[in-house]
Amino acid sequence: MGERDFPEEVLSMGQSLAWQDDANCKGKDGDIFFPERGASIRLAKGICRECKVREECLWFALITGQKAGIWGGMSERERRKARRKLHLAGTLKRKS
Ligand code: SF4
Repeated sequence: MGERDFPEEVLSMGQSLAWQDDANCKGKDGDIFFPERGASIRLAKGICRECKVREECLWFALITGQKAGIWGGMSERERRKARRKLHLAGTLKRKS
């Protein structure tokens, strides 16, 4: 899972992919979640907002360092900000 340490409960959410069975985006057009640069992400965010595995999805994206697309209702930029905040809070720590 990369070079970062995560709390055990977070790791367990991110390591299992069983949550994908309940994903609200299952069967939907992938272009909605991986739009071209500058395209609207409103539809994807709306689908994510109603998703019951949103938290698991977001942690998975953070743990695995997903760079592209909408995960857990967050854009790439929003996830970068979240990762920075988590690093500052000590939740994610780079191994030295
Ligand atoms: S939060 Fe969004 S991207 Fe993640 S599984 Fe749910 S609908 Fe799909």
